[in-house]
Amino acid sequence: MTAFPAGTILGYPRIGRRRELKRAVEAHWAGKSSADELESTAAELRAATRRRLADLGLGRTDSSIPESFSYYDQVLDLSVALGALPTRFQNLRGADGSFGLDALFTAARGVGEHAPLEMTKWFDTNYHYLVPEIGPETAFSLSSGRFAQQVAEARADGFTTRPVLVGPVTFLALAKASDEAGSDYRPLDRLEDVLPVYVELLASLRAAGADWVQLDEPALVSQSLPYADAELAAAAERAYAVLGAAADRPQILVAAGYAQLSAQAWSVLAAAPIEALAIDLTRGSLPASASGLDSKVLVAGVVDGRNIWRGDLAAAFDKLEAARGLGAAQVSVGTSTSLQHVPHDVADEAQLDERLRSWLAFADQKVEQVVVLARGLVDGREAIAADLEAATAALADRAAAPGVRVDAVRARTASLAAADFERGNEEERVAEQTAALGLPVLPTTTIGSFPQTGDIRRARAAHAKGEIDDAAYEGFLREEISRVIDLQHDLDIDVLVHGEAERNDMVQYFAELLDGFAVTQNGWVQSYGSRATRPSILWGDVSRPAPMTVRWAEYAQSLSQKHVKGMLTGPVTILAWSFVRDDQPLAETANQVGLALRDEIADLENAGIQIIQVDEPALRELLPLKADDQAAYLDWSVGSFRLATAGARNATQIHTHLCYSEFSVVIDAITALDADVTSIEAARSRGDVIDDIRDSGFPHGVGPGVWDIHSPRVPSVDEQQAILQRAVDALPHQLVWANPDCGLKTRGYDETVESLRNLVAATKNVRAGISA
Ligand code: GLN
Ligand code: ZN
Repeated sequence: MTAFPAGTILGYPRIGRRRELKRAVEAHWAGKSSADELESTAAELRAATRRRLADLGLGRTDSSIPESFSYYDQVLDLSVALGALPTRFQNLRGADGSFGLDALFTAARGVGEHAPLEMTKWFDTNYHYLVPEIGPETAFSLSSGRFAQQVAEARADGFTTRPVLVGPVTFLALAKASDEAGSDYRPLDRLEDVLPVYVELLASLRAAGADWVQLDEPALVSQSLPYADAELAAAAERAYAVLGAAADRPQILVAAGYAQLSAQAWSVLAAAPIEALAIDLTRGSLPASASGLDSKVLVAGVVDGRNIWRGDLAAAFDKLEAARGLGAAQVSVGTSTSLQHVPHDVADEAQLDERLRSWLAFADQKVEQVVVLARGLVDGREAIAADLEAATAALADRAAAPGVRVDAVRARTASLAAADFERGNEEERVAEQTAALGLPVLPTTTIGSFPQTGDIRRARAAHAKGEIDDAAYEGFLREEISRVIDLQHDLDIDVLVHGEAERNDMVQYFAELLDGFAVTQNGWVQSYGSRATRPSILWGDVSRPAPMTVRWAEYAQSLSQKHVKGMLTGPVTILAWSFVRDDQPLAETANQVGLALRDEIADLENAGIQIIQVDEPALRELLPLKADDQAAYLDWSVGSFRLATAGARNATQIHTHLCYSEFSVVIDAITALDADVTSIEAARSRGDVIDDIRDSGFPHGVGPGVWDIHSPRVPSVDEQQAILQRAVDALPHQLVWANPDCGLKTRGYDETVESLRNLVAATKNVRAGISA
């Protein structure tokens, strides 16, 4: 039995501080490097991470350094290790029967007849995992030695690290039923079958030299999964009875971050034959004492793994002291979640304002905080008094800094009245819009962006580097807009877009133009696989110093007799895809953004734009994991959208766009957005969502996507027509729009032109049916 360290982190970014893993993996995919070369780059990256964490103060041999590397995704790693890849990948096993890198990447990305695993959001984050597919045909068997190899690799380098694996309950709770299984098949019912493989896996880790293993069980905090709290807790009870009883195993730390552990799961785990339990004390509060805790280590997650703020270190230490009152055998300090959700190092942001930088903590700074707090736990509060004071001083400095609280912005949100959230009566709106817009039945449109070509990216980079001046860049963008408008004329699309060539990203573009935001240089965070995003930092009160989109919209409109849609990103999505401030309720921040957008909409109207789209693809993503918190969230999130749009004239048609198809989960909220037209993803399910729309009695215009833009495949006229016809048959045809699933920025022009031609042809066919 080795002791648990006084401080640890639950995981660390694995993409590399300069996205080395992205580059290595993509080079391998492109055939530019062998599997061996990729493996050795990855091993170097892991070695550098261990050394870095030791330099920051974590112990080399006390298991405080997590072994949390993944080539693509931590859930996929378990599908592979447990041999649980779907049938269509089973022929990819190597000569020794195990799954290698090839199988892993094929399952992640799809090749030929091997359709990839589905990807979905990891809890309420912007990280995406690959969904396991489990059915009666799934046979579990240990099928990869990667976890043990990494432990051994660390040992050879003088480190004893703590391997991090998704735990059995979470693995199954996040899985979906395979195609072979019936729709009422419940993957969690396979717990008994998966546990023996976990037992084997633990034995292999022990044999490789692991003293501790971390099993991540965030499913135990979530009420957004298809299992009740009690079912999940019962599964955890059974799982850890079995794993705890295994003869040859490392000591077990079960980690449950992202929110409060359910009461049932907490008492089950406190009593379980495991050695340590990590809970999230940033999004959850201290539970009541529970029996069994007196023989366990409690890892108190007081350092926030999901935001980038230095925060209140003294308050964190207070929580640790309070946690000691629960009666655990030992209290250690931890992060609330893995640090995979934050960038590597504030030191890589030399261009940021120095004062702002002093308020920030990325992964490396969070590690330092854990190390300080651990020292406090061992040596007493006095020993770290200077660190606590420095953090408190930074917090006070932040609270008083110019821009953090701006009187004019606050006065405006404080004076909002109910009427500011209400548009004109819907019937009158529809009448005025019908008269003003002169649209055909089943109007065709696109979601906003046109392909972001190499030329566009090069011009943007050249402009950023100062190689071309503002006037040249502006001229380039105007040409691009006029090309896109001509193309839409040629295709005979009804409602046009300007194509969004000026936008690097649908959130960052606005963040760069709004006051209250800062943009990082190296602040990359893994979104999925080799993809990373660079969220902006929303640090102060938000306001709009000048119009942001008007000159592009106005120019595009000047080129056409048809309507050109104005194109904005909504307040919820701007918040969801940025690092937001933690010093006030999100609702307040959302209203500030809403007001800035409201002013933009007024300016667009004054410039002659009559149709304006406000995208909210992240509305569902921020939905809290706890059922009790959902109503309040939907209230403020919908409210901020309404605040942004309610100032629009009756005759102005407001559109919104939501990417996902789980329409039914938040259908009431989508209705309450009160947008005149909503476009959503529908093509992958061939329009299944249309039934939900019909059943809900959705009263507004709706454009179920008829072309799945996530694939380069060109959908035929018939295929698109079938979905559109389905919509027209199910819904009042006056409400239906014809559009793709999402923006076209990741597509090439060839498939875009062909697919849109088919879309317009399909629409004309369906229209002919209606008038006949
Ligand atoms: N208007 C955006 C675009 O077309 C919408 C993108 C999105 O929903 N993610 O690119
Ligand atoms: Zn979309």
